[in-house]
Amino acid sequence: MRKKIAVLKGDGIGPEIVGEALKILEVVAEKYNHHFAYNFLDIGGCAIDAHGTPLPQETIDGCLAADATLLGAVGGPKWDNLAGDKRPEKGLLGIRKAMNLYSNLRPAKLFNQLADASPLRKEIVDAGIDFIVVRELTGGVYFGEHKTEEINGEKVATDIMPYSEKEIERIVRIGFETAMKRRKKLTSVDKANVLDTSRLWRATAERVAKEYPEVEFANMLVDNCAMQIVKNPAQFDVIVTENMFGDILTDEASMITGSIGMIPSSSLGEGTNGLYEPIHGSAPDIAGQNKANPIGTILSAAMLLKYSFGLDEESAAIEKAVNKVLEKGLRTGDSMSAGCKCLTCTEMGNAIAEEI
Ligand code: NAD
Repeated sequence: MRKKIAVLKGDGIGPEIVGEALKILEVVAEKYNHHFAYNFLDIGGCAIDAHGTPLPQETIDGCLAADATLLGAVGGPKWDNLAGDKRPEKGLLGIRKAMNLYSNLRPAKLFNQLADASPLRKEIVDAGIDFIVVRELTGGVYFGEHKTEEINGEKVATDIMPYSEKEIERIVRIGFETAMKRRKKLTSVDKANVLDTSRLWRATAERVAKEYPEVEFANMLVDNCAMQIVKNPAQFDVIVTENMFGDILTDEASMITGSIGMIPSSSLGEGTNGLYEPIHGSAPDIAGQNKANPIGTILSAAMLLKYSFGLDEESAAIEKAVNKVLEKGLRTGDSMSAGCKCLTCTEMGNAIAEEI
């Protein structure tokens, strides 16, 4: 198979972790006889420095022309004081919108080998943590109108949270389809006791639920969901929710699985051209030190092979290699525990490559 991959290394640890993921993709390409052509493009802070904008047109064009996009992370203290629309994160929101990637999948899975790294009590962890959050990615308050105005001599800020029925329906369907491929349980998360967008969300989810009688379906308020994720995460299989709730709940979910450095994500729209990235940020505190955990990015590359290229076996081979490395007690600093061996980012990439 011949495929084009747009590569956005970004800022901070981005180049280090993406470097290791590319190493793994090359090992897979050689073993399974594929050819991946990489187009390296700028996004975020590095794009601001080189082009004066966090999302150059060339990057948008390159991503749209590729078969899939792999991203590291964006941002850092150097660009923290720029105005809202010039910040590195604007590049991320912009590329998701430009590629119409409305569906973000983030698995929250505890690797048994990392059980000690979870901040939850042992009996909660032992019940198992293995769920996926399906987050709506191009609507809601992050994409509504933002304004700050002066009213009666006082500053007043407003952020509008729009959702159309169509936007809700397409993401809820992805929630049901994802549940059908797993344990057939879907929790739709909203704030229907307060928000109109949530009431429309709930009514739409309940309507679509009738088409999936095999799926055990429930609604849950977002505040309760935040609590249940730490109290009894084993109850969840698939959670579907709107953009901002998903942003917050997925960070919470990542923490209970041990390390933020381990978790991949995929963002897809109508076709198969998706964007794949670890859920963490650019970790400026450890950037350039070869200390970062590349596993979240490597598992993102595995998701890319599966969801954009349909290469299930190759994707599974990467996941298996990661498991084997963890079983051997190899770790990076963020997920270290007693008796394990601490590797650099490069060494971790090499160890996973050797297992494939
Ligand atoms: P962060 O995720 O970058 O870091 C939080 C903590 O986790 C830090 O201590 C960091 O060292 C650690 N960490 C993160 N990834 C790691 C990895 N792979 N290996 C080992 N340790 C890891 O979040 P932050 O500190 O809040 O943000 C830093 C910058 O990243 C900010 O500019 C922020 O805006 C940006 N950010 C970008 C994205 C993205 O690109 N998708 C997401 C979140 C934050």
